[in-house]
Amino acid sequence: MNILILGAGGLGCELLKNVSMMVIRQEIQVNKITIIDMDTIELTNLNRQFMFTDEDIGLNKSEVAAKYISNKFKKMVNVVPIVQDLTLLNKEFYQDFQLILSGLDSVEARRYVNQICVQIAYESQFNSIIPLIDGGLESLKGHVKLIIPGVTACWECSISTLPTQGTTENSTGPKIGNVPLCTIATNPRSIEHVIEHVYIKALENSDKDKDKQNFYLHENWDQDDNVIKRLFRECEERAIRYNIPRDQLTIHHMLGIMKRIIPNVCTTNAMIAAECCMELYKIYNDLIDFEGEPKNFLMMNGNRGQFYYKFTYQRDPRCPVCNIIP
Ligand SMILES: [Zn+2]
Repeated sequence: MNILILGAGGLGCELLKNVSMMVIRQEIQVNKITIIDMDTIELTNLNRQFMFTDEDIGLNKSEVAAKYISNKFKKMVNVVPIVQDLTLLNKEFYQDFQLILSGLDSVEARRYVNQICVQIAYESQFNSIIPLIDGGLESLKGHVKLIIPGVTACWECSISTLPTQGTTENSTGPKIGNVPLCTIATNPRSIEHVIEHVYIKALENSDKDKDKQNFYLHENWDQDDNVIKRLFRECEERAIRYNIPRDQLTIHHMLGIMKRIIPNVCTTNAMIAAECCMELYKIYNDLIDFEGEPKNFLMMNGNRGQFYYKFTYQRDPRCPVCNIIP
């Protein structure tokens, strides 16, 4: 069996470690594990991406991860790294694998791979079905989706369950998350609105102030104490002006929002990777009841207590991707 792991970040490293351990313990037999990631290692990755150290900063994630496994397990596991944008690889590339594990943070990349898997199943008349196991997480929450093209819901079938993220523009004007910019500017109701506004203003002013020393958001602004302190002070002043509690206003929280960093919890990575590999184990050992309705969707929420819920997510007959399959 050839396994493909998408992403060599927090979740990808955990997936690679788990699959390697399964190979060494002879729970599964694998010829080759391919891991693909186009990113290089940054300092901020080191708190959770345990295969990387200070010395690896600037190197390619997938290559360092593959080397880590080869060194650790004395070449008992064959790991092939690829440094590439996976949306530029075609169907022929993906056809080489019998199973795909996804530890991506990009919605578009997931949609691309999902669509390829559905296409391969359909065009081969189900002679070639590549199960896709997709893990995702945000802070203390996570999901695992098991996608067997033509049998279970595909990734696209459940796209409406995604939370809105990031800055988007649509016909009703620019929005951040679900909050219109006018709310952030004139009627802020939370410390997050305050931080967003200070950041947007700083971005606007950066262009004007480019000639001055210490202008706001230069290339490495997030490592510049003067800039950080100034932004923080502006957040404090704005919060006071709009009477918004400041108990959650810390430099860490401010930078997290300004840099769109979603807090990443190592334990959530480990738990979601473990669940993904449990699905891999069940597929490998034919333990999933496809005659009945396989529970293909796991939700985990650690915000209050620890909540796990596994259920059958039905195929959406109107799904633009898998509706080609009856
Ligand atoms: Zn679908």
